[in-house]
Amino acid sequence: VIAKQNFYKREERESGRYNPHRMEGLKKVIQQGLFKMYLQPKAEISSGRVSGAEALVRFEDERLGIIGPDKFIPQLEREGMIYAVDLYMFGRVCETLKSWMDQGRPLLMISVNFSRSTLLEENLTEQVEEIWEKYQVPKEYIEIEITESFGEMERETLVQIGQRIIEHGFRLSLDDFGAQYSNIAILSVLPLHELKLDKSLIHGLFSSDNTRIVVKHFLNLCKELGIQSVAEGVESAEQLDILRELGCGYIQGYYLNKPVP
Ligand code: C2E
Ligand code: MG
Ligand code: MG
Repeated sequence: VIAKQNFYKREERESGRYNPHRMEGLKKVIQQGLFKMYLQPKAEISSGRVSGAEALVRFEDERLGIIGPDKFIPQLEREGMIYAVDLYMFGRVCETLKSWMDQGRPLLMISVNFSRSTLLEENLTEQVEEIWEKYQVPKEYIEIEITESFGEMERETLVQIGQRIIEHGFRLSLDDFGAQYSNIAILSVLPLHELKLDKSLIHGLFSSDNTRIVVKHFLNLCKELGIQSVAEGVESAEQLDILRELGCGYIQGYYLNKPVP
């Protein structure tokens, strides 16, 4: 796996414009605390309780204000630098859980997004463990969200990296499922904890009977496989009603709450 990882990584760095000076600059900006963690709650449909939250990165620009990830993540991915932000966010998640523990507050699970190129980072799990060591919060409250934007050739690599994350005791979630190349086979080889149905499917629940049928079957698959199902991008009570009827476990979306600092 590591040889393959290095191959993909090298290819990425050569095709992208990995630049050590820019990396230095990024690390400085991270140290200055200009990347912020926002949290968006997830709630269990049956109980109505908040069950956890997703950590979403924002950048605070002194002139432009708060900037969303879509504006800077693609560039950082192309340059092979996103892992620095992802690991920073992972640390913020640990720190947040630790502060809740210290205040005697009940813990909620927090998930963090790792880009494809972060997953290919050399010694990723070792780097993650090193950050975790500082806080030592219960690992079952930390979930790593990965996406499936892997080409056919890389699927095997994705599965092996996913397995390593699980072996280290963290939860694993598959994000944006149903957005593009949803590979059902991946569900049979990776013991995922959570599957997140992409918001395009949720927004299609009303307009398309076919979408509703597809969502229903994905949800059944989750249930039978013992995977927690989350619908993302839920914006209305009507969508929630359909999801409840179709057997969805959890929701996330503006209907509940926007991401908050
Ligand atoms: P995602 O992981 O699928 O996160 C969900 C996105 O949907 C978030 O956008 C969230 O604000 C948005 N959203 C939540 N509820 C609703 C809703 O009801 N309707 C609609 N239309 N949208 C909703 P955001 O925060 O702009 O993040 C966009 C993407 O950027 C994320 O998609 C994720 O792929 C990526 N991202 C965010 N933070 C990080 C990070 O720390 N590292 C990496 N690698 N990627 C990140
Ligand atoms: Mg996500
Ligand atoms: Mg998503």
